[in-house]
Amino acid sequence: ETPLVEVKDLKVHFPITRGVIFDRVVGFVKAVDGVDLSIPRGKTYGLVGESGCGKSTLGRALLQLTPSTGGTVTFDGTQITGIGPVKLRAMRRRMQMIFQDPLSSLDPRQNVESILIEGLAAHGIGKGRDDRRQRVAETLDAVGLPRWALSRYPHEFSGGQRQRIGIARALVLGPDLIVADEPVSALDVSIQAQVINLLEDLQDQLNLTYLVIAHDLAVVRHIADVVGVMYLGALVEEASSDELYAEPLHPYTRALMSAVPVPDPDVEDQRERILLAGDLPSPANPPKGCRFHTRCPWAQPTRCADERPALRAIGDVGTHRVACHWAEDIRSGVLKPHEVRA
Ligand code: SF4
Ligand code: MG
Repeated sequence: ETPLVEVKDLKVHFPITRGVIFDRVVGFVKAVDGVDLSIPRGKTYGLVGESGCGKSTLGRALLQLTPSTGGTVTFDGTQITGIGPVKLRAMRRRMQMIFQDPLSSLDPRQNVESILIEGLAAHGIGKGRDDRRQRVAETLDAVGLPRWALSRYPHEFSGGQRQRIGIARALVLGPDLIVADEPVSALDVSIQAQVINLLEDLQDQLNLTYLVIAHDLAVVRHIADVVGVMYLGALVEEASSDELYAEPLHPYTRALMSAVPVPDPDVEDQRERILLAGDLPSPANPPKGCRFHTRCPWAQPTRCADERPALRAIGDVGTHRVACHWAEDIRSGVLKPHEVRA
């Protein structure tokens, strides 16, 4: 079976302009710079990285909410990059997005029912108002909100309930793919689990396919089937969730992993602590060679600074891909990280 989503060499470069009257393009922010990935039907792809790594731009480009400047996105066998706005609009119903802060994406002057009905009307779904109201009511049940919520306004709800409204707004259109951009990072930890569980239940019932974007590996650990780690516009590692958490190979993934808190306070934390030198470099001016070499505790002269590593399969399963020249030696432990002085 072909994957629902296939992304090939995707690029989103934003021009940097100077000048007031006569704009000159003086460079490009390479927010997404050559990403390959695919998402099987009914599965969840977790996309992780620091803010500014391009993961949100990638999520938006998947739906072509942000137009890509190179490469292709294929959705259910149809290439959606470069198709006209009318065709794209028709595809959009099947590809929906939910956001970190639903309050900023929900119209404060509309009650929940009209927010949801508006989406149906915009896509020409449902036969008249009664049919649409019925769909909206069923969707509310599906996301675990009471019927009285229909007549209330977004500000009257808690953060967790608002995220349920955001999910309902996506769900009511009957999508196949949902891109969830930091869906729980604005919520209390106890509420986070409820929203994640809801997303998982909905996936099981409706065979939904998800791209879940997070800055934190802990959030996607349980929901994702496959996890991709992004750094400065590129994927640096991708593996099944089990493989990635059992054996992270890319130095950047190891650093992210070492920042995840240990769930059980009684268990002594034996993991290596990896401190990264410096800040995230600007995506307008990424380092040459391996983009991570300015911060990498394993970086070796001079190959790491000279040659950009390709994302390549490591090990016998073939599903674990790493963009590091030294992945085998890091895996075997032959190559040790430089001593990091705090
Ligand atoms: Fe570090 Fe070099 Fe591997 Fe890049 S290629 S992650 S700099 S060891
Ligand atoms: Mg799942």
